[in-house]
Amino acid sequence: MGFNYVIEHMEEDEETSKAIPPWVELEYAHMRTLAGPYSQVHFTHLSKASSDSLDAAFAKSDTEAAASSGKAKAICHSAGVLELMKERGVPLSKVCLLDPKAEKVLSPEDGDGEFEWFLFGGILGDDPPRDRTSELRVLGFPNRHLGPVQMTTDTALGVTKLVVQDKKRLDEIPYVEFPTIHFNSKESVEMPFRYIANGSEPLLPPGMKELLHEDLNKSFDF
Ligand code: SAH
Repeated sequence: MGFNYVIEHMEEDEETSKAIPPWVELEYAHMRTLAGPYSQVHFTHLSKASSDSLDAAFAKSDTEAAASSGKAKAICHSAGVLELMKERGVPLSKVCLLDPKAEKVLSPEDGDGEFEWFLFGGILGDDPPRDRTSELRVLGFPNRHLGPVQMTTDTALGVTKLVVQDKKRLDEIPYVEFPTIHFNSKESVEMPFRYIANGSEPLLPPGMKELLHEDLNKSFDF
């Protein structure tokens, strides 16, 4: 059985015609893969432009990749998460906010009926973190943390799925921390996050390494 994952989009739209920042599109698409085929991923608090561009990006990847069946269904909402839960009659007690400042750590048992929805802040990680997750914390959801190190949102979703659906404990999951991404012999960038390990490499969204390399030439501000 799968779960419902919900990402409250908290980043501003891009000034340019492209409504959502390219890194958001890559991370959000990656979440569908990490969540797996038995679950749904809801993106909330989206502007019409963001919703349209995400839907188009997902539709494109679904037609390209015949194996889209391996991905979770994605649903875009203009409503914020609180409004969506009310619309769906989901009690807040069934929604777990993944929160770096939660008292309790997420455990496999949290997926045995206590929680059916897992909520994340759709936020580009800051270094050091500015605790923007607090904007969701004040809404009154129960919360759990995933350890002391900040993860990207897609990583947090991937780890959550491994814990609540695949019943792995946090310390059973291999991680890579603060990886240096090498583009060539001269260029590299250090990422201030914990990632799921893909061998000795961080598990990045497809296309993210290329995007990071492009951004390296622009001012790269977190
Ligand atoms: N720097 C941001 C957080 C970015 S991470 C801040 O200021 O809060 C984006 C989201 O991933 C967070 O809102 C949270 O839902 C989840 N997340 C990342 N690391 C986490 C951790 N160690 N424990 C729990 N949730 C985490």
